[in-house]
Amino acid sequence: MPYTYDDQNIFAKILRGEIPNDTVYEDDYALAFRDIQPQAPVHVLVIPKGPYVTYDHFANAATDAEIVGYMRAIGKVCTMMGVEPGEAGQGFRAISNAGTHGVQEVFHLHTHILGGRPLGRMLQRAD
Ligand code: 5GP
Repeated sequence: MPYTYDDQNIFAKILRGEIPNDTVYEDDYALAFRDIQPQAPVHVLVIPKGPYVTYDHFANAATDAEIVGYMRAIGKVCTMMGVEPGEAGQGFRAISNAGTHGVQEVFHLHTHILGGRPLGRMLQRAD
């Protein structure tokens, strides 16, 4: 499956520092910043630094180091934002929209970390 990465997408511009963002975490593999239109008290987007379009693209094509680095960054963000289930936080939802049916708007892989309030059921019936 070929994946075409458009380096003019908004998150590529954020990674290059061309557009400001509200960074909550950054390392060699990932950048995490607050969503511009938050849908929960905690709404952070975690993106890999490499040019990957979707979750499956990343899972198929990224190096082992990139995959580990990205997943560790997501773990750190959950801890930093205080949403990990347990004594500290009360849980979160991780979402990665892909393609048309996934209603993906920005074509650079991102994982939404949502929390800070009860989030309801995962999907609502469309019919
Ligand atoms: P998705 O592609 O998963 O459907 O959604 C893209 C997300 O990126 C949306 O939640 C939207 O609010 C967020 N977003 C779009 N443009 C920007 C931007 O310039 N800055 C930030 N921080 N978030 C953005």
